[in-house]
Amino acid sequence: MKKTRHSIRFIEEKCIGCVTCLRACPTKAIRVVNDKARFDEERCIDCGECFRLCPHDAIASETTSYADLKKFECTIALPSPVLYSQFGYDVLPNQILLALKKIGFDYVFDEAWDCELTTEAIQIYLDNCKGPFPQISITCPVVVRLITMLYPSLVDHLIKLEIPRESAAKKFRQKAASSRGISPDKIGVIHITPCPAKMISINHPVGLEKSNLDGAIAISDIYGQLLMALKDLEEDVILQLSSGVGIAWAISGGEIMGIRQENCLAVSGVQDVIRTLNDVEAGKLNEILFLECLICPDGCIGGSLTVQNRHQARRKVRRLIKMFGEQTRVSREMVLRLYRDGYFNLQKEILPNPLPPLDPDPVKAIQKIKQRDEILKDLPGKNCSACGAPDCRTLAEDIVLGHASVEDCVFLTLKKLIGKS
Ligand code: SF4
Ligand code: SF4
Repeated sequence: MKKTRHSIRFIEEKCIGCVTCLRACPTKAIRVVNDKARFDEERCIDCGECFRLCPHDAIASETTSYADLKKFECTIALPSPVLYSQFGYDVLPNQILLALKKIGFDYVFDEAWDCELTTEAIQIYLDNCKGPFPQISITCPVVVRLITMLYPSLVDHLIKLEIPRESAAKKFRQKAASSRGISPDKIGVIHITPCPAKMISINHPVGLEKSNLDGAIAISDIYGQLLMALKDLEEDVILQLSSGVGIAWAISGGEIMGIRQENCLAVSGVQDVIRTLNDVEAGKLNEILFLECLICPDGCIGGSLTVQNRHQARRKVRRLIKMFGEQTRVSREMVLRLYRDGYFNLQKEILPNPLPPLDPDPVKAIQKIKQRDEILKDLPGKNCSACGAPDCRTLAEDIVLGHASVEDCVFLTLKKLIGKS
């Protein structure tokens, strides 16, 4: 499987330069040049907003294909709890896990169970944490990238606990290897994902030397097969272990649902996450102990690789929480033991990765900021994106960096032409 740097790819032939993606990008990573969109790999955080909004299917996601599984001797599926929300109201998690087995995975494990273990581990962590507060969840790889890039001062706030899909992958790879008597590297551990960003957290993990997962298949890519498999399930074993506490991780607020502390906060959606991180940076949320931030609207059920209307999916998750209970099925003693044994430990420190300044030389950088502000005064301030940059300030910056020219501004060019005639 190719290790791409990003989870999205622009398809030049399909792009008509409509600038929809450009205006949505939270890190101003996209430019449109000669009617074709392209993105700056340094700035992209894989939020998937461009992929979600492109009206011309000119952006593709880079996830594992079903055919890629052939290279493994044995495969394990670890479905995001979101998968449980994607089928009819009466289809239960255990049936979905059995359907995954039926379509070809050798082993299928309930990732929601590891979410439940991690909820308890977060509780233990917070009970012993001396700050800084709020501690911020690292479940969403996009939020982690956003923080390391644009909020480097908040990197110390990122909670130092391994995420459930990674701890589950590590555990089940070992289990399957010993039960089959094969080398662990012959096993493909595959996450069933609601969003493309999970692929990047596999190819370029944070806090780990190497991901424990081998790939991520989009929910939308195997949905049809699962629907067929659900029609006539024969096998009847219990694969679902989780209660509503683990399943709740599919929605915004789910990660904090099982934490026995009131001062936790859950935020979802790009703009709300950015607003909240600004508040954390300004010291306005110091009384909050734990902050769950998920980039997709309403949490992972809003991921761009899902198939179900997210409001309907949320309704289904609520039903499952009610059905399987808000009381955790994991014992604190067991999690405490795992916690002390280092089961939830990260392998390396998460470090800031801020965007470079306008110039590596601080004196020149200040000069360039002044230059940018001067250019900005002459631009019309309409932020129309007709120049191919998301707004006038970014165009001014591009001009200073030599990536664009004042002539790219259609208003100024028109003004000049009218003045001449
Ligand atoms: S949204 Fe972006 S990628 Fe899609 S057609 Fe418009 S400019 Fe091209
Ligand atoms: S994935 Fe997000 S950050 Fe990357 S180019 Fe698209 S909108 Fe911008």
